[in-house]
Amino acid sequence: MEGRLVAARIREQVARDVKELGRVGLATVLVGDDPASHIYVSRKHEAADEVGMASVDHRLAADTRQEDLQALLADLNRDDGVDGILVQLPLPEQLDEALVFRSVEPIKDVDGFHPFNRGQLSLGRPTFVPATPLGIMTLLHAYAVQIEGARAVVVGRSEVVGKPTALLLLGGNATVTICHSKTRDLAALTREADVLVAAVGRAGMIEADMVKEGAAVVDVGINRLDDGIVGDVDGGVAERAGYLTPVPGGVGPMTIAMLLRNTVQAARYRRNPVTFAPQ
Ligand code: NAP
Repeated sequence: MEGRLVAARIREQVARDVKELGRVGLATVLVGDDPASHIYVSRKHEAADEVGMASVDHRLAADTRQEDLQALLADLNRDDGVDGILVQLPLPEQLDEALVFRSVEPIKDVDGFHPFNRGQLSLGRPTFVPATPLGIMTLLHAYAVQIEGARAVVVGRSEVVGKPTALLLLGGNATVTICHSKTRDLAALTREADVLVAAVGRAGMIEADMVKEGAAVVDVGINRLDDGIVGDVDGGVAERAGYLTPVPGGVGPMTIAMLLRNTVQAARYRRNPVTFAPQ
C-alpha cells in the first residue's frame, strides 16, 4: 500500500480546499533539540507551503518553562489567523504533556490529543482524529481492504497510534484485539489477523510466521538503524501478506497528509462553529 501515492492525491484535494477557503493557518510548536522532531516539523511546513497554507513555526529552547509554553498556546488559541495548532512530541521531561494537550482549544486541536477530541473518538463520534491512525484507515480504504467483519489486531496501545487506531477499526465494525508488552503468545493472536497493524518501535519484530496468508499489514514503526530506517515488520512478511505498507513511504506520508486535512477541517469548523461536535 503506497502511502506516498495516496498522500499525494489527498494533498492535491487539500490544495483545492485551501484555495476555496481563502486562507488556512497552521501553527506548530517544537520544544527542544530532538533531531527527528526537527525533521518532522520541517516536513510538515514544506507540505503546508505546497498546499498554500499559511504556517508558522515556533521553536522553543529545550529548557522552556511550562508557563512560557502555556502563554504561547494561549496566544495561538486567541490568534484568529491560526486554524490548527500542533505541538510536536515528545516534549522535554520538565513539561507536562497532559496539561499541554488540555491547553490547545479543542476546535484547533488538529492532532486530536485534547481529552474532548479523544472522548469523541471513543464515543464513536470522531471530531479530530490523530493523524497517524487516520492515515492508516485512509490507506486501508484506498486499497479497498475489508474492515467490516474482519479480525483486526493492533500491536501497540499508545495514545497517539495504537489505541486510536483500534477505536477506528472498531468503528468500522472490525473485531479488534489490542496487544502490548504484557500480551502472552503474541504470534498466536497476530496469526488470526485479517488486518494487522504494528505500532511498537522494534525493528522487524513481526516475522513472516506471525502473519496470516493474504492479510493486510500496516507497518507504523520507524526504527533508525545504522543502515537506514526500517519498520516493525520483517522483510519476509511481503511473501505472505496480501497488502503491506513500505517503510519509508507508507504510513509516514499519510500522517502528514492527514494533518493537512485536519487543518482544513479546523478552518471549516471555525468558520461555522456549530458544526463542531454537534450533540
Ligand atoms: P510507544 O508510545 O513507545 O508505544 C509502543 C507500544 O508498543 C506500547 O503500547 C508497548 O506496550 C508496545 N510494545 C512494546 N514492546 C512490545 C512487545 N514486545 N510486544 C507487543 N507490544 C509491545 O510508541 P508509539 O508512539 O505508539 O509509536 C510506535 C512506533 O510507530 C514507533 O516506531 C514510532 O516511531 C512510530 N510512529 C510512526 C508514525 C508515522 O507517521 N509513521 C507516527 C507515530 C509513531 P506497553 O503499552 O505495554 O508498554
